[in-house]
Amino acid sequence: MDPNENPTCVFCRIIGGDEMVSIIHEDDEIIAFLDIQPLYAGHVLVVPKEHYKNLFYVPERLAARTFATARRILPGIRKATNCRAVNLFSPNGTAGGQDVFHFHLHLIPVPDGEAFPLQLPDPNAPVPSRSQLDVMAIRVGQCIREEEAAGA
Ligand SMILES: [Zn+2]
Repeated sequence: MDPNENPTCVFCRIIGGDEMVSIIHEDDEIIAFLDIQPLYAGHVLVVPKEHYKNLFYVPERLAARTFATARRILPGIRKATNCRAVNLFSPNGTAGGQDVFHFHLHLIPVPDGEAFPLQLPDPNAPVPSRSQLDVMAIRVGQCIREEEAAGA
């Protein structure tokens, strides 16, 4: 068993061959398979084989491989589903809807005329002032530097 493998993790059991899924891509580091509860047909999960809780914990190189794999399979999902849109989604924390604590990307084809339930605000929604945005940008920039200095 991989030292990082977590026997209580459903994705680790899938990667270990203990749970059946419909695999669409597999290499030495990444596996992609159909979500068993798709939002729309063709909904794919892209998962690094090593167990990391979420994007906060994944080494940058492996995160890049996961995103690169998503990019590579995206056109095939679009063609197979005849959807013009394929959205990418990654929950990173319970409050954001993460329910399997093994980092993964969702690739979700969205049929024309169907809703995507994670819509960003309507174009007519109120917008913060420029100064509010600037204050938040400075705050985020400071925190990025603080977290990098702390080795997060
Ligand atoms: Zn896992």
